[in-house]
Amino acid sequence: MPVASLSWHLLDTIRFMANESSNPMSTGYPPDHDVDDVVVVGGGIIGLATAWQLLRQRPGSLVTIVEAEADVASHQTSHNSGVLHAGVYYAPGSLKAVLCARGRALMEQFCLDHDIPIDFTGKLVVAVSDAELPGLARLFERSTQNGVPGLRRLDRSELRQIEPAVEGVAAIHSPRTGVLDFAEVARQLAEEVVVLGGTLLTSWPVRSVQSTAEGCIVTGPGGAVRRGRQAVVCAGLQADRLAGDAAKDVRILPFRGSWYRVSQPLADRIRGSIYPVPDPSLPFLGVHLTRRVNGEVWAGPNAFLAFSRRTYKPWAVSPRDSLSSLGYPGFWRFAVANLGTAWTEFSHDVSARAYANSLRQYVPDVRASDLHRGPMGIRAQAMDARGHLIDDFLIRRDGNVLHVLNAPSPAATSSFAIGEFLAEKIDEETP
Ligand SMILES: Cc1cc2nc3c(=O)[nH]c(=O)nc-3n(C[C@H](O)[C@H](O)[C@H](O)COP(=O)(O)OP(=O)(O)OC[C@H]3O[C@@H](n4cnc5c(N)ncnc54)[C@H](O)[C@@H]3O)c2cc1C
Repeated sequence: MPVASLSWHLLDTIRFMANESSNPMSTGYPPDHDVDDVVVVGGGIIGLATAWQLLRQRPGSLVTIVEAEADVASHQTSHNSGVLHAGVYYAPGSLKAVLCARGRALMEQFCLDHDIPIDFTGKLVVAVSDAELPGLARLFERSTQNGVPGLRRLDRSELRQIEPAVEGVAAIHSPRTGVLDFAEVARQLAEEVVVLGGTLLTSWPVRSVQSTAEGCIVTGPGGAVRRGRQAVVCAGLQADRLAGDAAKDVRILPFRGSWYRVSQPLADRIRGSIYPVPDPSLPFLGVHLTRRVNGEVWAGPNAFLAFSRRTYKPWAVSPRDSLSSLGYPGFWRFAVANLGTAWTEFSHDVSARAYANSLRQYVPDVRASDLHRGPMGIRAQAMDARGHLIDDFLIRRDGNVLHVLNAPSPAATSSFAIGEFLAEKIDEETP
């Protein structure tokens, strides 16, 4: 495990304990009060996979998941591209690279065991000019180091055998990249957590999570309290708000991603996932196409700042969420450094014509009339105060609480491995 790449951050828990002593709810556990071994905050795929791993590793332990919404998997877990990534992009040795490889294998096994379909449609990364060949070569090298199975370099005619609608000078092909419905996996996990003896409380929005000398206190609706020996917070788009000082140098920036549905006959000619050579300075993948597990072909998602962290309507505005982004100095540094990209992403969002123009670089036959506005998702992307998007997964400990502060793509692919990793971290002695 690449411990060096982990951003473990020891916080001043003494201060938390001092605050706690003035809190009437935290005078120690009454002897008859139920104390969970672990309270998991967030019923997305990461929280559910963590609870599932805990209950399987330690049968009989007391694990409760608390979820703000009425259903599990209401946010990123059900608003994503559904791609089971094979590990093409990630820096070798990073948490993303290690946990994606392990998570993919665990996800494949879980889906096999539960009759959840995965379609191995494959992934093509296409260089459209000689200028992109060095970038493609670097990606091939990286993917090889990450152990991406079955990876091949393709020339112009070979790539057309795999994707006849695509034009390019060269490509790499990952045949084990698949597609599936992560929300279906999450719903299955929720059922199993309960069968394994866990408790799932929905419509239970957490207001605060506090590490104490005895364990932790999770405060929810109407001042209701869950006490635990440990807590793991997997709150996705709200992660920074529950982390307090553990997130004092990071902010969650919500990035909307909109899709276009591709209509027939073009959709019939797209067989798998097709991507450009990405900009290495950004964690987003550029203009791409995905054949989904239900057979639809979607173009996107793009990436542009969202003004709400939880409303899936185009251009919904939450004053609190907007102020959180626009009032963060890091955001303005990022915006100034990426003005050109921001304009392109915005135009892709509002104009099918602009999106089709960009896609035409490697799918020459696409027209704006092939693209029809589809749904959108909102990514939880952590940014540091200097305006850098944090690339790797980021997990920090605050006393008896573990906070998942950055779990963007491929975190759904990696979810079982992230859960396994967090379950192991819980066992580590609290500093
Ligand atoms: C547009 C898009 C495309 C993507 N494509 C892919 C892909 O193809 N492949 C891939 O592997 N990954 C992909 N991802 C990433 C993947 O979806 C996420 O990394 C993953 O779903 C994160 O899971 P999570 O459980 O951390 O977050 P979420 O699914 O967002 O779950 C967090 C949960 O916490 C709950 N919560 C928040 N605050 C509170 C609170 N105060 N109290 C109680 N509960 C709370 C929320 O209601 C939510 O249910 C994509 C993401 C997006 C947005």
